[in-house]
Order: sequence, then structure tokens, then C-alpha cells
Amino acid sequence: MEISNLQPRALWENFSAICNIPHPSGHIDQIRQFLVDFGNSLSLETLTDEVGNVLIRKPATPGMENAPIVVLQAHMDMVPQKNSNVDHDFEKDPIQAYVDGEWVKAKDTTLGADNGIGMAAIMAVLQSKEIKHGPIEALITADEETGMFGAFGLKEGFVKGKILMNTDSEDWGELFVGCAGGVDVTATIKYKEENEIPEGDIAFKVSVTGLKGGHSGCDIHLGRANANKLLFRFLKPAVALHEARLSWVKGGSLRNAIPREAFAIVTIPAEAKDEFMEMAEEYHADIRDDYKGVEDGIQFSVEEVALPKTLVPEEIQDNIINAVVAVPNGAARFLVDMPDVVETSSNMAIISIDKGVFSAKFLVRGSNDNLKMDLASSIESTFALAGAKVEFSGEYPGWNPNMDSKILHVMTEEYKKLYGVDPKVNVIHAGLECGIIGAACPGMDMISYGPTVRFPHSPDEKVNIKDVELFWDYTKAILENIK
Ligand SMILES: [Zn+2]
Repeated sequence: MEISNLQPRALWENFSAICNIPHPSGHIDQIRQFLVDFGNSLSLETLTDEVGNVLIRKPATPGMENAPIVVLQAHMDMVPQKNSNVDHDFEKDPIQAYVDGEWVKAKDTTLGADNGIGMAAIMAVLQSKEIKHGPIEALITADEETGMFGAFGLKEGFVKGKILMNTDSEDWGELFVGCAGGVDVTATIKYKEENEIPEGDIAFKVSVTGLKGGHSGCDIHLGRANANKLLFRFLKPAVALHEARLSWVKGGSLRNAIPREAFAIVTIPAEAKDEFMEMAEEYHADIRDDYKGVEDGIQFSVEEVALPKTLVPEEIQDNIINAVVAVPNGAARFLVDMPDVVETSSNMAIISIDKGVFSAKFLVRGSNDNLKMDLASSIESTFALAGAKVEFSGEYPGWNPNMDSKILHVMTEEYKKLYGVDPKVNVIHAGLECGIIGAACPGMDMISYGPTVRFPHSPDEKVNIKDVELFWDYTKAILENIK
């Protein structure tokens, strides 16, 4: 079956048209023009702003003129990912979407259901002559996936509505009412390397591997181990009991991933070798036990290697170890209204000691911006005590949940009417455009929802056909009932 024959027809026809227009992040001129032409073809007021966001205004249907303006929002770009065995040029070639049982998928590439289905639904609302609704503003933002540039560039006043429905979440049956903002924290210590290795020392490489890792926001509440923390938990007593000296460290690779591996090179006096190795063996057994049921693949090992050429001065090494062991890591606080949901967290993502420079990079997240910065500040203080220079960068705002939200109330009621059960109400501990849009448009009442999309950002991306139909019926019902 062609996807344009699926129900609801108008939505799938729009999605099929979107698939035919290349729209990878960073190359969205064609899709933007398509949206502008689309708005103009319906004789609707159609605007673009400096950063390339598109806004299409549709007046209220008769009898609904006094309803509040509703902003329907999606992003226009998609993540370009393909299987390595195919030739596909995301800047030229159409996405080949097809029906696979209960799902729509794309042939060897990402599908762009994230957020193309949202865009297609919004277009169908703009086209519809049947749906009853108040005044509508369709806001299609530019380049979300590579840094939310459209949302960041949004100017106050471009949209007039004070209720926003974002269509970019991927679990049908869940309403998202908050998301985390973030800030990067980087601690650096520069030092003069010591070139003299104590007489009679031997060297070991210490390795922590086999951890699960995961997304530093969405997986931070799962109690997984952080490889950098595990490494330094061992190094501290190795220094205290066996006169270990640090030479080199490398752990983690991405700011937004929980580190899975960390390595160090240390020296110890040759006579401490047996006890050091015994301590390592005990430590391996301890951590396997401590993380039983969470991390079943932990590997910890020490292996004798050639002596390094340089060492970290003793005082600096003690400061580094104390700071890394002391610094807060993981989920720090949970939401009062939703005790299962993380409010603030930090991830000690990347750590390195090499060529006279120690650095540690953290990503701190929080739905409440004050508490997020408070946690970042405690990391700053910990490393300031160790003599480090600490910098904050890349801060973006969170979206603090409001359980008294009007749109949440309407959407909960409509969901109950349609499906007989309460929707799940959730806060995502990762970034959504809503956080940034909310900062640009003070007082905006927002919600995020959408049909189930699995494996977004990968060539296995797929969207559930039944959910798309439910999502459409639900959207219509909500629009008719915002009065
Ligand atoms: Zn998205």
C-alpha cells in the first residue's frame, strides 16, 4: 500500500509530499519554500523570520472567534542517517517511505516522522474545512536537530498565541509538560609535568570497561555506573595506600553520554605490586556486586605497562582526585509533583589528564533553571577548591512543569473522553524546543505530544500507523474544545 492511501488521508498525503522534498538539518531551504507556497496556496497569512521559521495563520471557524489562539508547532528539519551500504544523498534524494505491517518505515534511511508527521498534521488542520477551531498559528521551526537554532532565534511577538501544542514527542498516550535545560561545565588545571619517575617504580594501566552508558538525561535515573567515577574511586586508595602516582587519564567521549570506559596510567613502587594487584581484584569484585542487576558487564583490570615519561605533581594529583571523588554526579533532585522524574542531574562526561592539562567536562540538566545553575555552581566550587579554572558554556533554558496548565487540563479531559483512561503526564529530562520557546515567549502555556516513533535518528526509525490516526482524532478534538 502507498502511504498516501493510509488514514487519515490528508495527513498521509502531506507526509508523502514532505518525504519528496529533501530536508536534512542544515539544508532546509526547499522545505521552507514548500511551506511558504503551501500557506500562500491556501490564501493564509504566511510569514518567515530572520532565522527561517515559518508561521502560517488561519482564522477561527465561525462561532469560534473568541477562542484563544492556539500555536501548533513542529520542526521542519530531519536527522539524515542511512545504512552504510546504500547510496542516498539527503540533499537531493526523496525519502522512500513504505508500509511495514503496523508501521511506516523508510528504505535504508531515517524516515523523518520526527517531526514530519507533526508537520503533516498541522498542514492538514490548515487545509481542513471540517474541523472547528479557534484562531490558529502554525509555527514550523528551522533546524531543531542540530542545536534548536529556529527556537533560539524566535523573537517575542512573532507568534501571538499563548497556548502552544508541540508535536515532537514520541510516545503516544503521554503528555509532556516539562523538559530539562542544560549547561556545560568545564574544569581545567594546567600544571608543569614532572619528568622524574621515582627510582624502582613500575607502571600499570588501569581500565574500566563494559559499562552500559546511555543518554545522560533520559537514562540518568537508572543508577548506572559512571566509568570516570569508578576509575577515581579506585585511584584514591591506590594513592593513599600504595603511593600510586598519576601519569595519564582518559575517560568518556561525549558530553551527553554516560561514560562507558575510563583508563589511567599510574606508577607504583615495585614492592607494592602484589598488594596493588590484590586490591584491584577485590575492587573488581566489589563493584560487580555494588552494581549487580544494573551493570552486569563491568570489567576492571590492571595491567603492567612501560614506564611513562611524566607524572602529575603530587599536590595537583591529590587535588584532582579529591575533586573528582567529591563532585556530585547523577540524579540530584526529583520533581515534587512527580517523584519518579528527575529534576536536576549532572553527568561527569569526559575527563582527561595529558601533557600538563587536566580537564573534566560535565553536562548539567534541570527543568528548573535556578536549581540547574545551583548544581552547576556546586561543581564549580568543588573544582575551585582544587585550584581549577571553571567555565560555564552553552546554557539553554528548561521548561518547568505547570500542573495547573489550561492546555494540560483540556488535553487530559479530551483524552479521558476518547479513550476512557487518563493519559500519562510526564516531564522529559532532555531538551525540547518548548524550553527555548517558553523563554522567548513568556507566559506561553505549552504541551508536547505525538504518535509513537521508534528508533528516531536511525535508519530503523518507524512511526505507528494506528497512533497517527489516534493522534489526528485527538488533535481535532482538542482544537474543538479549547474555548
Ligand atoms: Zn524532533
